[in-house]
Parts: sequence; C-alpha cells; structure tokens
Amino acid sequence: VGDSEVRSVLIVGACQAGVHVAVSLREQGYQGSITMVSAEAHLPYNRPPLSKALLKGEIVADSLVLRSREFYEDQGIDLVLGERVLSLTRAGEEGAGLARTDAGRIIDFDRVALTVGSRPRRLAVPGADADGVLYLRDMDDAVTLRDRLAEASRIVVVGGGFIGLEVAASARLLGKHVTVVLPAQRLMARAVGEAAAEFFRTEHESHGVRIRTQLSVTEVISDSKGAVRGIRTSDGDVLAADLVIVGIGADPRVELAEEFGLAVDNGIKVDEHALASDGYTVAAGDCANMPNPLSHGRGAERMRLESLNNATEQAKVAAASLVGARTPYRTIPWFWSDQFDHKLQVAGVAAGFDHLVLRGAVEERRFSVLYYAGPELIAAECVNSPADFALIRGAMLRGHTIPEQVAADATISLRGSAVPLEPELLETA
Ligand SMILES: Cc1cc2nc3c(=O)[nH]c(=O)nc-3n(C[C@H](O)[C@H](O)[C@H](O)COP(=O)(O)OP(=O)(O)OC[C@H]3O[C@@H](n4cnc5c(N)ncnc54)[C@H](O)[C@@H]3O)c2cc1C
Repeated sequence: VGDSEVRSVLIVGACQAGVHVAVSLREQGYQGSITMVSAEAHLPYNRPPLSKALLKGEIVADSLVLRSREFYEDQGIDLVLGERVLSLTRAGEEGAGLARTDAGRIIDFDRVALTVGSRPRRLAVPGADADGVLYLRDMDDAVTLRDRLAEASRIVVVGGGFIGLEVAASARLLGKHVTVVLPAQRLMARAVGEAAAEFFRTEHESHGVRIRTQLSVTEVISDSKGAVRGIRTSDGDVLAADLVIVGIGADPRVELAEEFGLAVDNGIKVDEHALASDGYTVAAGDCANMPNPLSHGRGAERMRLESLNNATEQAKVAAASLVGARTPYRTIPWFWSDQFDHKLQVAGVAAGFDHLVLRGAVEERRFSVLYYAGPELIAAECVNSPADFALIRGAMLRGHTIPEQVAADATISLRGSAVPLEPELLETA
C-alpha cells in the first residue's frame, strides 16, 4: 500500500492525541475509514481538570467531553468505546495489519496510529494493594477519588509532581488534612527550577499542606479488613491516613508497539514526523519518544512529554504522515499546572541552559524564570504571569530571544522586546 492508497486507519487510544489524529485526518482531506478504539467507556474527554475542577466538585464529568457523539458520526469516525486492543499483528511489508480487541473484535488496517498514553507508576512497597491506595489517570479514577475524598479526613499524597500537588491542593481546599511525601529535595524536581519549586512549597505550606521531602514510603499499613490506615516512611515514622494517593510518575504504554516490532525506548520512538521505526506507523502524545525540537546539540536529544499541547500538536503531525505528507514537529512545547489560585506555565525545555534570569519578585507571587543557552532563550517558567508567558512563548515560536536586561526588569513590558537570534543584534541588545 503506498501512502496515497491508505484506505483504512486504526487509531488505538481515543483521548487528546487520538481525537486530534482523527480530526486532523479529515481536515487534511483523508476520505478513507477511521476506526478509533478506546479502552475507556466514556466519550473522549479533557484530562487535566480531573485533578483540579472535577476533584473539587466545581464541574461534572459530562462537561469534559471533547466532542459530541454526533460529531464522530458526522465525520465518519467509527468510535469504539470500552474495548481494549490486545494485540497488533502485521499483514504485509508496510504498515498494514490486524488488531484484536478484548471483545474479540478484529479490525484490519492499512495504517495504525498509537495514541495509547501512559499509565501511572505503581507504588511498589509492602501493603500497597490496600483498599484506599488510589491513583489518578482516568475519569473513573477521578470519580472514585472524588467520592472517597468526601468520606476521608487524613490524606497522604505520595509524590511531589504536578498531579500529586494538584490533588494535594484540591484535597486541602476540601478541608482535608494533607501531607505530601516525596523522596526528592524539592517539589516538581523534574520539571521546574528552584524558584518555582520553593514558591509552590511555601504556598502549599501556608495553606496548611504538610510537605515532607527526602522521604520515601516503605510500607502501607492497613487494618484487618484491608483498609488503609497509614504509611511508614524511610525515617521510621508512621503517618496516619484514610486515603493514600499515589502520583509518582507515569510509564508509556509500549506493549502494542513492541508486539508490532517497533523500536521502543522510554516510549515509542518516533522521528520529527511522528513516524515510528517502521516508517509507516505513527505514535503521538504521552506514549511517544521524539527528537527534542529545541535541542540544537545541547543534550537531551530525545524526550517524551506528558502535556496536552504536545499530544495535540504531535497528533496533527502524525495525521499528516499517515496521508503521506511530511510536516515536521516544530512547536514550542508547553504545559501548565493550577495549584490553589496559582497558575504555573512552562514553555520550552530547560535542558542544556547555562544561565537564567528571574523576572519579577517571588514575594509578589508573580514572576518568571527565563532560561538561556548563550543568547538563546530556550525555556521559561511563569507563575501568575499569563501575559508574559504568551509573549515569551510567542517569541520562542518565531525563533526570537528576549534580551536579558529587558527580561530582568519587570517594569519593562516584554511586548515588542523580542529580537531575532542574530549575533550582531544580540551584541547590542
Ligand atoms: C490528572 C491529570 C492532570 C493533568 N493536567 C495537565 C495539565 O494541567 N496540563 C497539561 O498540559 N497536561 C496535563 N496532564 C497531561 C495530559 O492530560 C496528557 O499529556 C494527555 O492527556 C496525553 O494525551 P494522550 O492522548 O497521549 O494520552 P491519554 O490521555 O493517556 O489517552 C490515551 C488513551 O488510550 C487508551 N488506551 C491505552 N491503551 C489502549 C488499548 N490497548 N486499547 C484501547 N485504548 C487504549 C487509554 O485508556 C486512554 O484513554 C494531566 C494528566 C492527568 C492524568
């Protein structure tokens, strides 16, 4: 099957990336069949509010639906809900094959898109299977967590990443006693620098969340009925808890890719066109490991991003590749996190930075940290500064940088301050 003769596409996984592959295929004029299979029984939905508004009871689950059922029907997208694809086998040399679901359905395809996301890492300590040890990935998890929170009073959150901290903030706002336990020295250590980490620690603590760093969980303690009662930590302490919520990272789902003979390394390896190692199959979103579009030889050559924006943008690139076009992934990745009434927004990838500039004052709860490699602006973390964030990301998208003395002076607007990355301009900047 040549690219122009692709007549059937199977999309495995129907969330942010999957839905955008399907929609983009139609937008790009593809007229063949599209079957999209989701292991979840819900219409595809927006995941980020699960740890925020949904948990706090501010919205109901139905409001998170991405598109109506009629939309998929109108677009000729055959949406199969509540079925898991269990195996993928090849049929021929190119990307064609057969899928089998847990309901016994067989789907043949000319091309397959893997948008299977990631799964939460499990807490591997004695007792971790107790009732009341919960994870948060899917809608069903969030609804369970919301309902269990209503009856709990002491919560231990294991992990100090975005999901753990968002859950901690939501639970605290619901009036729960919350302790966050993490092995690292600081919060969100993988994703943000010291200033933002310290700021959020102070905010959590001032709202009454207890933060215990450099501590790991060694055991989950439960009662005779198997219900969680607390955890034991590496310093021998016991923390009482009615619920233990685990947010210690997520692993990409790679089993189907491996079965299909695709290269896998911390995710399904793809190129800048979202093409996997066979040159026909595509992968996008949390499950894909891609070339870092901002690396420029500074290290961190490949990466896997867990962000809504990445899932959306990579899905569009993947759809183009399925129909034989080649659009490189050229966006500036970004994501956000909401904790209490603070918004953190992060753009770019700070790996390989050699210096940073703080803009604004941490005490004023409004600041940004800009990361540079030489004169080039490669990443930024903005706290409660959405206007600066938009201007910074806009500059990066155009391949521009922001002169450091402008960045460092929060009284100077960033509007119009970006300059192209040319040596002579940067010397005078
Ligand atoms: C609680 C929470 C809060 C978040 N908050 C933010 C945020 O504030 N900002 C941000 O940028 N990002 C946030 N994220 C990350 C963001 O939601 C993800 O990056 C995004 O959803 C990735 O989309 P995806 O389509 O790649 O994967 P997923 O959304 O994980 O979707 C994959 C789908 O594939 C299905 N699937 C897997 N295997 C199979 C199979 N074999 N057969 C059929 N179906 C299968 C899964 O059930 C799932 O429905 C958050 C994530 C979570 C869990």
